Amino acid sequence: MRYQVLRPPYCYRWAVLISVVLVTTSLIISLSWSGAQGSETASPPQRARASTTPEPAAAPAAAGPVRTAARPGRFVALTFDDGPDPTYTPQVLDLLEQHGAVATFCMVGTQVRRHPELVAQVVERGMRLCDHTVSHDEELARRNEARISAEITGTQADLRLAADGDVSIPYFRAPGGNWSETITAIASREGMTSLGWSVDSRDWTLPGTPAIVATVRQAVQPGAVILLHDGGGQRKQTVAALTELLPWLVAQGYQFDFPAT
Ligand SMILES: [Zn+2]
Repeated sequence: MRYQVLRPPYCYRWAVLISVVLVTTSLIISLSWSGAQGSETASPPQRARASTTPEPAAAPAAAGPVRTAARPGRFVALTFDDGPDPTYTPQVLDLLEQHGAVATFCMVGTQVRRHPELVAQVVERGMRLCDHTVSHDEELARRNEARISAEITGTQADLRLAADGDVSIPYFRAPGGNWSETITAIASREGMTSLGWSVDSRDWTLPGTPAIVATVRQAVQPGAVILLHDGGGQRKQTVAALTELLPWLVAQGYQFDFPAT
């Protein structure tokens, strides 16, 4: 009787003890399991993000400045920078006309304002205009966007004013050829092709006429865009070099073209 009376409470205590152990164990297991699941579910999105981030970087980069003539074949594109200049620009125009050549003139806004009549002459002779900024700041790439924009659009406005409004300005060239993505983007937004060169005559270093002639002769090839200067300083050497180079280019079978757009 006694044994039977005592039995149920003993059974009950054991049952409680076992239940407590089971519940505690299952709690520990479920907590650690949910922790493991948490870390697993967190990682797939990270991997997914990692795999998608390279896509914007893989997008095609903006095209750099044009460095070839418009037409394929034995063509060269002559370009004259830093004018217009009242002494040298008319001399260059006369030489070009004598040899049936065309060229592109990259003009500086401050010069355009001083000599607007020369812009009209350049256009009337069948040449093309190129915007070369207002002040020829060779550090333009380091300026803020508003300043870059003002340097580019200011010369556009000056050229249009000088040429009575209805004139095409197909190109823009950065001073010193110092480009940035912002510069090319603003030029493009303003409807201009960024214009580089493939042959630097180095006439701006005043190396003497024979050196200018030799540099161009050695470097020229079909499609070349040749950098020369009709402004920005003393350009007697450049004019003298042209009197030799223009007939030489013609004798070599070259024709003259504008740069690609
Ligand atoms: Zn220049």
